[in-house]
Parts: sequence; structure tokens; C-alpha cells
Amino acid sequence: MTAASSSVLPRRTQAVCCYTSAMDKDATYCGECGKPLIRCMAAEECGGLLDDQGLCTVCVAPQLMIAPGALTAAKVGSAIALPISIANRSAIERPLFVTRLWSREAAGAWREEHLGWERLDAGQARPVTVTASQLTRAGAHNIEILVAVSSRWRWREESYAFSADLRLTVEGDEEKSGPVVTIGGESAGHGNTIYISGQGDKREVLQATTEAIELELVRAEREERRLGLRGLSETLWIPKNTKMVWRGFPKEDTPPDGPILTPDGILAVGRTRSRRSGGPGDVRLLAETPDGGIDEHASRLISRRHFELYIECNRLILRVNGSGGVRINGEAYGTGKEIALRDGDRIEPLVKVDGALALTVRFQVEHGSVAEVTITRVPSLKKGG
Ligand SMILES: [Zn+2]
Ligand SMILES: [Zn+2]
Repeated sequence: MTAASSSVLPRRTQAVCCYTSAMDKDATYCGECGKPLIRCMAAEECGGLLDDQGLCTVCVAPQLMIAPGALTAAKVGSAIALPISIANRSAIERPLFVTRLWSREAAGAWREEHLGWERLDAGQARPVTVTASQLTRAGAHNIEILVAVSSRWRWREESYAFSADLRLTVEGDEEKSGPVVTIGGESAGHGNTIYISGQGDKREVLQATTEAIELELVRAEREERRLGLRGLSETLWIPKNTKMVWRGFPKEDTPPDGPILTPDGILAVGRTRSRRSGGPGDVRLLAETPDGGIDEHASRLISRRHFELYIECNRLILRVNGSGGVRINGEAYGTGKEIALRDGDRIEPLVKVDGALALTVRFQVEHGSVAEVTITRVPSLKKGG
């Protein structure tokens, strides 16, 4: 383990006015530009706003470097082991979890690399080895590295994938002097290239190899979906700013239609009064009698915080909180269970009372991205509780 170079200020991903507005922890929209303030799940600690792709750059700041010291010892042959280090450059004390790592040559198949560790504390860097094979021929080789990372907050977890490109140029007459491998990252710029000479090569190392080369990491959202890290499928995902639309509830029992903008990004659904009515909940659920009154007995089976709704990893998650559990499409789920909701799902908060109260879930999709989620209470309840 080596210490990473000092932490940098996180990249700002929203307009300055939004950060200023977000200083007020209860603010939901920017007072200046009107944009919704979508906070990181760990905002309590990091104070971060998410970028438009759902990333908190305060919490998730991985850095990929080619470790220089070991490079000169790398041998050119049928395969070359590239010593890489991954650092967590979070500006605050947020650990980052590196869960998987792959590499591939050109457009070949991804090859998973062995990772013997997972946790990176802020400021920490740990080594991994990426194997590039088939480097026996001279010429240019493109190596792509894909890394999956997770940020965790209590029981929640956001996962992301980043990729980096690396160009290897194998030079030299293999018979006479052994090949020379040139390594350059996409972001390495000009003149920031390291040459490794093979055995017997007369050429000197052209640049100081004591300097590490940083490889620019870019979000790989298609890979995230392909790997199942984010989204409901490769072609369907729910961004954090998806508009939630509430139907069949008295107005005061739900938040206004719009993205989930509570400080922790969670909507509490249950028997307590909603924030709009001055209560601690977000969506109030009560059972009713056939004549439209409140069914006190059945309503008592609904916990004060019966379940929670939040968007995590581009999925709308229902987490069961109440002891009574919930039924989704007829299947019962107990406390602590997390279920990714899908278009057409039917949520029944009263497991034991059949068909008494249900919430239906409807997605409105635009180019794979869910623009709106409509939650409809069945039967519709017009009166306040
Ligand atoms: Zn703003
Ligand atoms: Zn954060």
C-alpha cells in the first residue's frame, strides 16, 4: 500500500448557484436556476450533489495510475503484466470499494483480473496487475481497463463502472535486441510516454520512469448496465431525476409530483402524516372502508414507516420496513427485503387483507430512460385522512 498523492477538490458537476442553494439542507430546488437539487445518498457526510449521470464526485473519485517503479522490470514476451494502482481521491473520508476489474485488447472479450482486496480508504492507493497478452508482434496494441467501484452508505450502495484506454506500442527487432514496449495513456499527453526496453536493448529508458502515468477514467454506463451494476436491464434504467407522479391519493398525503428530493433521497411510505401535512413521512397510506371512511382496524396493520422508496443504481427500490411486510405481484416480502420495482408491478401493503389496498407502478420510458413513474392508489382515495 502506498499513499496516493494528496486529495484534490472534487470536480464540480452542477452550476455554482445549485451548490449555494444546497447549503440549505432542506432546499429541494435551486433558488436561482430552478434545477432540482439531487443529493448524494451520503449527503449528510459529503454534502455532494449528483452529476446528471447520478455520480457524486465527492464520494466517487477513483484514480488509475501505471505504477512506474515496476515497469522497468516488466518482461516482454507472450504476455506482459502491467502494474497499476487504483487510488481513492475522495476529498472527504469516504471509502471506495473496488469490486471487479477487467481488461481486454482491442475489441476482444473482457478478461477479469484477480483482485485480492476491495476497500480503499480516502487517500489510499492499492496495486493490481493487468495482464496484456499477445504482445509478441511489433506494432500498436490497445488495452482497455474496466473497473467496477461501489460507494456505500448504511445499507445502500451505488455502483459504477469506469474505463481507461492504454496504448502499448511494441517496437524493435525481436531477434536481435528484444522488443521495446511503449506505454501511453489516453490522458498522458505528448512526451509523457514510458519506454520499456527488452533485454539486450542498447537504448536507454527515454524518460524518467519514477513518474506514474495517470490514465483518465471515464464513466462506462453501457458496461454498467451490461454487467448488471446499474439499471433494470441493458436497455432500461431509472435516473435519479425521474419524476414521481402520485394518483388516487389526497394531495396532502404525497409529495408534489417531481423527482425524489428528500435530504436522504428516500420516501417514507406508511401510516404517519406526510411532510406536506407537517408529519415525519412522505406518502401516507391508510386503509378505507367501503363507504370511503378510514378503516381504523385495517390501517393499524400498516406501519408508520411501512416501506421506503428510493432510486439506487438506476432502479426504483422498495425496501420493506414494517413488520407486516408487503406483497408485490402476489408474493410476500418481509422486513429488510429490497425489491427493484418494474413497470406494471402491484404493491399491496396489507399482506393479510386481500385486495384491500394496492399501489400500481407505471413507467413512462423515453429512449430506455424512465422519465416518469406513476404510482396509483387503488382504490383511489379522495378524502383526507
Ligand atoms: Zn442552480
Ligand atoms: Zn457523496
